[in-house]
Amino acid sequence: MHVLILGGTTEARRLAELLHGTPGLELTSSLAGRVAGPRLPPGRTRVGGFGGTPGLAAWLREHRVDALVDATHPFAGTMSFHAVRAAADAQVPLLALRRPGWTPVEGDRWHPVGSLEEAAGALPALGRRVFLTTGRMGLAAFAGLDDLWFLVRSVDAPEPPYPARMEVLLDRGPFTLDGERELLRRHRVDVVVTKDSGGAATAPKLAAAREARLPVVVVRRPPVPEGVPAVPDAESAARWVTGRR
Ligand code: NAP
Repeated sequence: MHVLILGGTTEARRLAELLHGTPGLELTSSLAGRVAGPRLPPGRTRVGGFGGTPGLAAWLREHRVDALVDATHPFAGTMSFHAVRAAADAQVPLLALRRPGWTPVEGDRWHPVGSLEEAAGALPALGRRVFLTTGRMGLAAFAGLDDLWFLVRSVDAPEPPYPARMEVLLDRGPFTLDGERELLRRHRVDVVVTKDSGGAATAPKLAAAREARLPVVVVRRPPVPEGVPAVPDAESAARWVTGRR
């Protein structure tokens, strides 16, 4: 049985770890190739786009894939739609591994917005020193905010256009509450921007912001395709896969 995992997330890697070595199971993890030195899952990996829905459908057929797991990031909206169409086309069963979003708790000062552009529009009224954790893609949305200073945290260095007053911190999760607290304090951050990525690895910034009573601009998730069976974690996805053998 050949399983293709569309990855690029902690959960996708965890799923590969859980399935790796299962007798009778052949595993391929697919990465988009956005990160220069990705953390690779065990088993076979392939890197780079498929060439849209037709490319993915052709790949599924050519490599005799028996089950497809879309374990991409909640903000990788395009790929999730491609997965649905390609799976239908190639008649391959599809499961979505969708990590739940975050929910605010008492003390949070969240400002939900629909896009990075909207986040940029909200910032001048909320603070002057911004901790921007939305990744290196999409920094153009913040490029015109010359009065604000940004601490940008990303895995790889961003490319222009980006904000004029910016310090880059190259790092990747998981992060700790102590570390996030110290970061906010040292850089005198007064507002945080995040995507609603969900998951534990990057959640400590939310707790640190809550403690410091800082506003957090939270970018809502893009829509996901409807009607796809979905599970919230890698363990459930592994059960779905092994149950199909
Ligand atoms: P996207 O907008 O949904 O996809 C854009 C294109 O990238 C797709 O059409 C596809 O190209 C290719 N692609 C995406 N995921 C792929 C995968 N797992 N394997 C092979 N090709 C893939 O995705 P994105 O937001 O650019 O994210 C790219 C990758 O980074 C995803 O795998 C995602 O899990 C990971 N990631 C994204 C974020 C985020 O905030 N967006 C955060 C962390 C990790 P073709 O059409 O040519 O097949």
